Amino acid sequence: MRGMQVKVTIRYECRKCKKVTEQIERIVVDNLPDHVKVLQCTKCGVMGVCLLEHAS
Ligand SMILES: [Zn+2]
Repeated sequence: MRGMQVKVTIRYECRKCKKVTEQIERIVVDNLPDHVKVLQCTKCGVMGVCLLEHAS
């Protein structure tokens, strides 16, 4: 059903909180490579670029 807001959170280390927090993916530009995401910390609200490592 449309209209439901699905928040995908990713656990990632926040540079401000200095620990792993739940972060929301933000689409700010649409030309980023697949492994680069902009994440916003749900604790402090800071946004940062996240480089996802591909598992070998
Ligand atoms: Zn934070």
